[in-house]
Amino acid sequence: MRLIIIGAGPGGYETAVAAARKGLEVTIISDGPVGGTCLNEGCIPTKSFCRNAELLEDLAKASTFGIDDLQYKFDFAKVVSRKEEVVSQLRQGVEFLLGGKGITLLRGKASFKDAHTVCVASDDPAMDGTEVTGDAIIIATGSYSASLPIPGADLPDVITSKEILELDAVPKRLCVIGAGVIGLEFASIFKSFGSEVSVVEFCKEILPRFDTDLAKRLKQTLSKRGISIETSAQVQSVEQTGAGLKVTYLKKEKPVEIVADKVLMAVGRRPNVGGINLADAGIEFGPKGIVVDKDMRTNVPHIYAIGDVTGGYMLAHVATFQGLRALAAILGEPCDIDLSIVPAAVFTNPEAATVGKTEDECKAAGIPVKCLKSFFRANGKALSMDEPDGFVKLVVAAEGQPEGSPWETGRILGCHLFGAHSADIVQEIAALMNRKATLSEFQAVIHAHPTLTEVLQSAAHSA
Ligand code: NAD
Repeated sequence: MRLIIIGAGPGGYETAVAAARKGLEVTIISDGPVGGTCLNEGCIPTKSFCRNAELLEDLAKASTFGIDDLQYKFDFAKVVSRKEEVVSQLRQGVEFLLGGKGITLLRGKASFKDAHTVCVASDDPAMDGTEVTGDAIIIATGSYSASLPIPGADLPDVITSKEILELDAVPKRLCVIGAGVIGLEFASIFKSFGSEVSVVEFCKEILPRFDTDLAKRLKQTLSKRGISIETSAQVQSVEQTGAGLKVTYLKKEKPVEIVADKVLMAVGRRPNVGGINLADAGIEFGPKGIVVDKDMRTNVPHIYAIGDVTGGYMLAHVATFQGLRALAAILGEPCDIDLSIVPAAVFTNPEAATVGKTEDECKAAGIPVKCLKSFFRANGKALSMDEPDGFVKLVVAAEGQPEGSPWETGRILGCHLFGAHSADIVQEIAALMNRKATLSEFQAVIHAHPTLTEVLQSAAHSA
């Protein structure tokens, strides 16, 4: 069977490798470096910066650990070159995988000629004009940074998450528009790098899609670190002045101004549905992305779409698992990947993480729940690490629910936390939720002492 994959991000390339292992003849087409947004201008370079930021925070509190008179120089050029080395090493790994048996990598821009044929426009004359036909096609073209339709949004110092990773100096004053995942991660990183950071968020709380309790407490922690966060604030314009970029926002209907050297626009991402002639192949799509069913199949039965281009969760790991689900459907194999249980993390300092339903979502859906909480400041390992800030909330189905229902009594429905290593800790609850575990089953699992994962046990036993 011949499979065409358009896009070589974590959705496209992982699916290509898995499909080739299953014996499919795969052609993958990429108009950018392999690895996509995640590897080249997203998750990976950001995490490289995060590590630098974390190290700087640790150095700043060295005296707490009895290390005094420490002298060091922060060399941003080395931070950037280390990030580039990490990216390049991983990219070589992906290129190696895509050079494997059963996979052909075409470099260029793909577009549909018809529902079975894809044409490639390439700078490489050997590839330009190539036409490939497939029995099945997976679209994995990702997303791009959104902007606001306001005056000044196109000024050169108003940058996106891609450009902030390419700066050659740390801005003295950084204004971040949007307190979502991208906005907060860069606010946290650049605060550690020495910038004065202000965040302006439209909604009444940061991380609008997260648990509100978590968002409130994380906001307090980030504010304590010196990041200025303004919520319920609507940005009106950005203007270049002699003193820098003047950002004007409305707060309680009154205009407020901030002056910054760089403005990061972090107001979401949009599915990349343009330029590939989706209409010519008869594929249904809209501004929220390509429409798919539970197997990631579009309205054209042999064409699938995965990852950011389908809207929904714009997360690398979701794209990968959606690809595996699509592959199973193409092969007619059973698949027990549950795409509704999605752990997600925010790499601020400290980290935040989430899986499953929030308390508010349960309330809105009329699901009776009880919420169990615990705090990092009561955890021995966290205190030893001097990481007392953090909290966990477990959302569990309340008494009196019918057996066999998705929220039968005791079923763990969600977990929301922030604190050191939250991104790793949440995975335990994701695994349990996948196995439909109950609170009492979780309470019976021995956790090593002293570890940070005991915060989950403390919450569970607070019932
Ligand atoms: P987002 O949707 O997470 O956040 C955008 C924020 O901008 C929201 O809080 C929104 O209320 C705010 N906003 C919108 N209009 C505004 C305005 N006019 N003024 C002020 N604020 C405004 O989007 P993002 O942070 O840009 O991230 C894009 C996608 O990438 C998300 O789906 C995210 O999950 C994903 N991502 C994930 C990770 C990770 O997993 N660690 C990292 C980066 C990005």
